[in-house]
Amino acid sequence: MYLGSHVSFDSKEQLLKSVKDAISYNANTFMFYTGAPQNTNRCIIDDNKIKLAYNLMKENGIDLNKVICHAPYIINLANDLDPSKYDFSINFLKQEVNRVNKMGVKYLVLHPGSSVGIERSKALLNISNAINMVLSDNCDVMILLETMAGKGTECGINLDEIKTIIDNIKLKDKIGVCLDTCHLNDSGIDISMFDYYLDEFDKVIGIDKIKCIHINDSKNSISSHKDRHENIGFGTIGFTNLINVIYNKRLESVPKILETPFVGENKEFPPYKFEIEMIKNKEFDNNLIEKIIKYYK
Ligand SMILES: [Zn+2]
Repeated sequence: MYLGSHVSFDSKEQLLKSVKDAISYNANTFMFYTGAPQNTNRCIIDDNKIKLAYNLMKENGIDLNKVICHAPYIINLANDLDPSKYDFSINFLKQEVNRVNKMGVKYLVLHPGSSVGIERSKALLNISNAINMVLSDNCDVMILLETMAGKGTECGINLDEIKTIIDNIKLKDKIGVCLDTCHLNDSGIDISMFDYYLDEFDKVIGIDKIKCIHINDSKNSISSHKDRHENIGFGTIGFTNLINVIYNKRLESVPKILETPFVGENKEFPPYKFEIEMIKNKEFDNNLIEKIIKYYK
């Protein structure tokens, strides 16, 4: 099983910092942003840091082919009402793909975007067109469209929309999907019936397109269209349903990434080391949050 979490990446240590974080959580994979997820300030990738990160990964059994990068949220490929903003998103994504490629990372997760005021079908086409401008044969990065909760005018909120985006992409071997259990729940999928969803996914898109899964509980009920993540077992999806997703035989080779919220009074403590341990034990621990706070304090 490939189990890890969102980790940090800083301008000083870069990927090396991410690997150190992952190891401290006893994870064997991880997901990072190349800078703050909310902005597009990015540092120049340092070859030396990549080498050090690779060495540390090798020593700790972390497979580079399972490592995930997440593009910043502010990229919006769906809306082209302001051409300069649309072009900015495309150009930034191009640079992001190059950064990821330089680090040897294979997968870049992308929120498809929000339509805000334009027709849905046009928004979906804008996304495909933009991705076509970014992907190229001489770049080894696959873009993973994330399934969204349906907050506001988000695109990619059901299988038909994801399929429509993929259908219009030219380099089919460079496009995949990242599921998110919280987003699925909030978009209206019953996670206790996850195998039915996978059957449906296989029929519409093909299960081999799933290259990453974000494992999050949800603060809100099914179909709420909210997208607020909760710690594993403490939300409306529940521990057993999430365990069934994580250990699903059909998704064995797919990396599972926790993006659950930090805990403590000021949300300063990462829960991942403890959530990973609880998932490995397959037993819910009601006192988990208190244990995390005690450990880091
Ligand atoms: Zn995401």
